[in-house]
Amino acid sequence: MMTEIPYDRFAHVPERISGLVDLAYNLWWSWHSSASVLFKMLNRAEWKMSGHNPVRMLLDTPPRFFERAATNPEYLRRYDIIMYRFRQYMEPKTSWFSQYYPGRVPLTIAYLSSEFGLHHSLPFYAGGLGILAGDHVKASSDLGVPLVAVGFMYAEGYLHQHIEANGWQKNIAEVLDRDAAPVLRVLDDSGRQLVIRVPLIEPAIYVAVWKVQVGRVPLYLLDTHIDENEPENRNISHRLYLKEIECRLRQEVVLGIGGRKVLHTLGIEYSAMHLNEGHSAFALLERLRERLDAGMPPGDAREQVRGTSVFTTHTPVPAAHDVFPEELMAKYFRTYCSSLGLTWDEFMALGEDPHSPGAGFNMTAFALRMSRFHNGVSQKHGEVAREMWQPLWPDLPVEKIPIDAITNGVHMPSWLNHRIEALFDRYMDSVYPNWREEYDNPALWEVVDEIPDEELWREHQWLKMKLFARLRDRKRMKWAGHREEPANLAAEGLMLDTSALTIGFARRFAEYKRADLIFEDLDRLDRIVNNRWRPVQFIFAGKAHPADERGKQILQEIYQYSQDPRFGGRIAFIEDYGEQLARYMVHGVDVWMNTPVPLMEASGTSGMKAGMNGVPNLSVLDGWWVEGYNGRNGWGFEGRPPYSGEGQPDAGTLYDLIENELAPLYYSRTIDDTPHKWVRIMKESIKSIAPQYCAVRMLKEYVTHYYPSVCMYAAGPAKRAAGIEGVCIPR
Ligand SMILES: *Cc1c(COP(=O)(O)O)cnc(C)c1O
Repeated sequence: MMTEIPYDRFAHVPERISGLVDLAYNLWWSWHSSASVLFKMLNRAEWKMSGHNPVRMLLDTPPRFFERAATNPEYLRRYDIIMYRFRQYMEPKTSWFSQYYPGRVPLTIAYLSSEFGLHHSLPFYAGGLGILAGDHVKASSDLGVPLVAVGFMYAEGYLHQHIEANGWQKNIAEVLDRDAAPVLRVLDDSGRQLVIRVPLIEPAIYVAVWKVQVGRVPLYLLDTHIDENEPENRNISHRLYLKEIECRLRQEVVLGIGGRKVLHTLGIEYSAMHLNEGHSAFALLERLRERLDAGMPPGDAREQVRGTSVFTTHTPVPAAHDVFPEELMAKYFRTYCSSLGLTWDEFMALGEDPHSPGAGFNMTAFALRMSRFHNGVSQKHGEVAREMWQPLWPDLPVEKIPIDAITNGVHMPSWLNHRIEALFDRYMDSVYPNWREEYDNPALWEVVDEIPDEELWREHQWLKMKLFARLRDRKRMKWAGHREEPANLAAEGLMLDTSALTIGFARRFAEYKRADLIFEDLDRLDRIVNNRWRPVQFIFAGKAHPADERGKQILQEIYQYSQDPRFGGRIAFIEDYGEQLARYMVHGVDVWMNTPVPLMEASGTSGMKAGMNGVPNLSVLDGWWVEGYNGRNGWGFEGRPPYSGEGQPDAGTLYDLIENELAPLYYSRTIDDTPHKWVRIMKESIKSIAPQYCAVRMLKEYVTHYYPSVCMYAAGPAKRAAGIEGVCIPR
């Protein structure tokens, strides 16, 4: 089994700079801005045209560009430095992980997720869950954690959003050209792409395997779009979260059971499995079946599977947990069930949700039963999840329910703007030259106070202009291509003013996120945005799930307000929110707003991205912000659920905060045109959020709380007795 870069397709790349091909196939470049500059310098136009996809760019760039670069001393100098850094990264002498865990028992973690948000050239994610998984993988790579990831090769990704002139969301399909993207076919011994059959599932489903190299971590992707499959099975991996329940079940069968089979076929031995949300939980069945097949007694097999499985639940919203009706389960799992030595009723009982017995097979309830280590994604969410799932442990009081909390974090090198990073470099260098190796240490962030206010403010202004220029550029291109309605130009940010206080709101348009909260009282909003001395702008972005009519209505309402001359072009809605637009927004707005109905937000991560770039949060105290808010790094308020018939009390709180606190601070300028009190909040935001809400901190918690504890089980009782406990930290 192997993956090989198809070098023959890059014969036009001169030997002297042929490392560019290796670089293109490893997403390491995507979080090292100096590496992506190498691609940009080579052929700027094509870099942009390709959507920052280096494989496509290298394939489409004519030879003369390479010849020019290969004879340009400046280019070569940069190239040599980057390649040196890349090779050092790939083969380090040591890593955080190897120091933490000297490795008496080898440890590998299989990490399964239905989405991975890594870079905009790979459409394998829908939103926050996928970006989190991508950040988990990147941080594992940085820390040297031996992780192997498994996900889907979606041909079409989620959806591209186009907003019509009436504000209605239209979905546009765009199919990925896999042979011109940073993904590789995994080949079998005969040199053909590896195809496996999902065990015991009838009718048969076949899966082809691809690989994305993410730094040191491989991500294997499952693809059903192959001739071996019946036509109805080819589309299983076509798009994220198919609406139809049977299609979803087939997706989850492929991810869990197929994913486990792929690891087995590749010969990857892992000591623990980490399920990122319940979509992949069928993998636990497959793990159980393998042990029974090998003759292990059922009780031991179950205990071993549980003891080596970590499950992270990501949402308190009941509708977001998959439940498959019994008839459907019967259609696919009859044969499977008997191979487990279970009666049908015993099998269904594994997925029974105690809140609604008989409703079907609940993936979250199943994953909780079949794994020993489970967690929510913020301290608050941990509490909510313990309460929600208490019926699974009827004998335990709620505080003893074994669902812990590991608060999410974001991969700082991916989300920190390189100009802000350069600013940190300048001030950290004399005190902590190696700050990149220990940026989860709060002490070193005290240095932020040494940055002169004017400097941080100037960088922020620059990023804001860059965001506005970017929005205009998108519109200009569509306008020039006769693809845009005039009314949409005003709605999509053409009139935004770089000097006005700008509040960003970008997330999924699910109802509980309350994107429409600030439109509760239009007269009050009118006074706020059109204030002559202290105008306020709002930039919205986000997609509604294609099946969510209510979400699409909310989006349409907001879009129509943004077209309304009453608000003077100060409310904008930007279409097609994704990782790239998120990047511009979290760097360039002045404030990041979040207004979920309380207790519905498990964590939220976009506010962390904003906060570490010096963009303070204005948010309901829910999810991560309950613990992230310290009274000085932004604004937080206790949210209240909407009262029936009385509207939304939180809207008034929000108006008061914006009018009485944010705007006065933002517009109080000294002679040097810098709002010093505002900048103090920006700095506090960076200092408190960067070290605490980065994925490195998160990953270290997964490692120290879970991963090695799990290896004790993998090692078996003899080795456990021989003192592996000294290395692992069980809780
Ligand atoms: C970070 C991110 C999210 C998650 O945002 P929330 O704060 O959890 O709503 C969603 N989509 C994209 C593209 C992101 O980058």
